Amino acid sequence: FAKENGKNKWQIFDSKMKEIVERNLNVERYLRKAIDRNEFSLSYQPQFHTITNKMRGFEVLLRWDNDELGGNVEPVEFIRVAENSGFINEIGEWVIRSACKKLEYLWNNYFDDFIISVNISPIQLMQHNFIDLIESIISQYSILPEMLEFEITESVFIESYDQARINLEKIKKMGIKISLDDFGTGYSSLSYLNNLPIDSLKIDRTFVSDVSKGIFKETMLESIIILAHKLGLDVIAEGVETRDQLFSVRKFNCDFAQGFHFSEPISESDLDDYLKHKGYKSFRNSNSNYKDY
Ligand code: C2E
Ligand code: MG
Ligand code: MG
Ligand code: MG
Repeated sequence: FAKENGKNKWQIFDSKMKEIVERNLNVERYLRKAIDRNEFSLSYQPQFHTITNKMRGFEVLLRWDNDELGGNVEPVEFIRVAENSGFINEIGEWVIRSACKKLEYLWNNYFDDFIISVNISPIQLMQHNFIDLIESIISQYSILPEMLEFEITESVFIESYDQARINLEKIKKMGIKISLDDFGTGYSSLSYLNNLPIDSLKIDRTFVSDVSKGIFKETMLESIIILAHKLGLDVIAEGVETRDQLFSVRKFNCDFAQGFHFSEPISESDLDDYLKHKGYKSFRNSNSNYKDY
């Protein structure tokens, strides 16, 4: 009986494995065509100053809608596949280009002073021609590098510290801001904070959601913020879902916050409505219905 049972388990395991492998292959297969088939779009999640409530800007989040895979595919799934297959460079280029185009539009129509934040994969950052690519894209739009921010994760520095660092220094020299994403997870090393040309630090949402769970978590959060400020960095709290969480991060002098408490990521087509609701007037094209875009 035991043997039978064991065999059954293997069969279940086997078919689960098969499913996973197949899914990965399909994701890779359709990812290859996604740009040409126009399946990508960007969502925009606003960030706010914790005290003044002034909007800092938007984080750009990639969305992929593919019928064969059942509709929306989560970034956590397809970004990994894209990184393993090398497509991430092409996809990332599409994201940066689209983000810059949107930045130009928002600057022309709504804001004088704000930031568009783009997630950059370690693979992209290690490309030798990455800087040329960024310079070329920026030159094609009427935007300033100072309005762009690149979000990177610490994993960049585990494999190819040198090339990534060289590129980061160049990006920084261009005037683009650099933010360390998901801080506090993974391989967080405090020495990165001192050695890298970063401007801000994004505290991972696990710290924010756990903040009410006792004095240790609170102390962690507070300490990270104090340390960051001593190093001259701005701090952004991720995943702020409730008023209480906002009050907590504000109490510890966290500069900015984003999360469902303020807004979910906003689709391209909802962005103008959102800004109007927030009271932002299209100051350059008033009454034009943004038909220039
Ligand atoms: P991330 O950069 O840390 O982005 C924040 C994630 O948290 C987003 O998930 C966002 O939708 C989600 N989020 C925002 N506010 C809240 C909240 O209050 N509560 C909770 N529970 N979640 C919140 P999303 O869009 O699924 O993206 C997941 C990850 O995929 C991102 O994490 C980022 O690492 C990666 N990603 C997304 N777009 C891109 C891209 O264009 N390029 C690269 N390389 N990676 C990307
Ligand atoms: Mg998601
Ligand atoms: Mg991010
Ligand atoms: Mg993050």
